[in-house]
Amino acid sequence: MDYRKQFVIAPDAKVRLEKIDPAYTGTHESHAKAIPAIQAHVARMDTLQNLLYADGNQSLLVVLQALDAGGKDGVVRHLFSGMNPQGTSVVGFKQPSQVEAAHDFLWRAHRHAPGKGEIVIFNRSHYEDVLVVRVHKLVPPSVWSKRYALIKDFETMLTQNGTRILKFYLHISPKEQLERFKARLDDPGRQWKISESDYAERALWADYVAAFEEAMERTSTQHAPWYVIPSNHKWFRNLAISQIIADTMDEMDLKLPKPHVDIAAMRRKYHVAATEQAER
Ligand code: AMP
Ligand code: MG
Repeated sequence: MDYRKQFVIAPDAKVRLEKIDPAYTGTHESHAKAIPAIQAHVARMDTLQNLLYADGNQSLLVVLQALDAGGKDGVVRHLFSGMNPQGTSVVGFKQPSQVEAAHDFLWRAHRHAPGKGEIVIFNRSHYEDVLVVRVHKLVPPSVWSKRYALIKDFETMLTQNGTRILKFYLHISPKEQLERFKARLDDPGRQWKISESDYAERALWADYVAAFEEAMERTSTQHAPWYVIPSNHKWFRNLAISQIIADTMDEMDLKLPKPHVDIAAMRRKYHVAATEQAER
């Protein structure tokens, strides 16, 4: 199954999240049976990340968005942990700092955009400025409504500079969210993730859905597509996202750079050194 085709939001398509089953697992029966496929995609991602770094001409930006407990941290942990830290980074977007708030909304995102050869994962992103900001009326509609076009232009600029952009909405049901909230309460190792605002935000579910739907409708493009990933099952989420990232990187035409030395000459130097070493 090609999950890029299955889960992509086509440019200008309507998005109705209630029509997408968050518990979907495709033809895969269980986590255990999906493990080899997930491992294979993650191994491909790791190899391609090395190649991206060596190639040094392009970059990859992965945007993760979801409602609370949607699994953004889990995606980072499970899918990116095998990558070389040299050339990979994760940026979390929290409430803007004073300095960030003093700038335009894209400023902090732009500062963290990947340089050539790099992969950057945005754990939340510039999309918060048409999501939480819209839902909580932090700026008037006349301000946030203009941001879709600005985001599209920003992403087009990054693309023209050699950045591939993949945007994932991790789709969970309200019931699954509540189960995850409970798991956090019951697990001392995860209680730190509980936020004062969890239930107030949950009460705004419909408003967030409306904001996500409009954001994805207005900013999913050929070069910076949105994918809605069924995420009630963490393993299926990991399977779909790892396949989409690996397939995308496969198509980036990444190449090892040509050696910048004369390999035959270097080999002769090596033999001289090896002979000297042996004679010591
Ligand atoms: P967490 O990801 O759980 O650490 O929470 C980060 C919080 O920062 C979330 O409640 C986000 O909605 C919030 N946040 C992120 N970006 C913005 C923004 N631009 N304006 C207001 N709140 C934001
Ligand atoms: Mg949170």
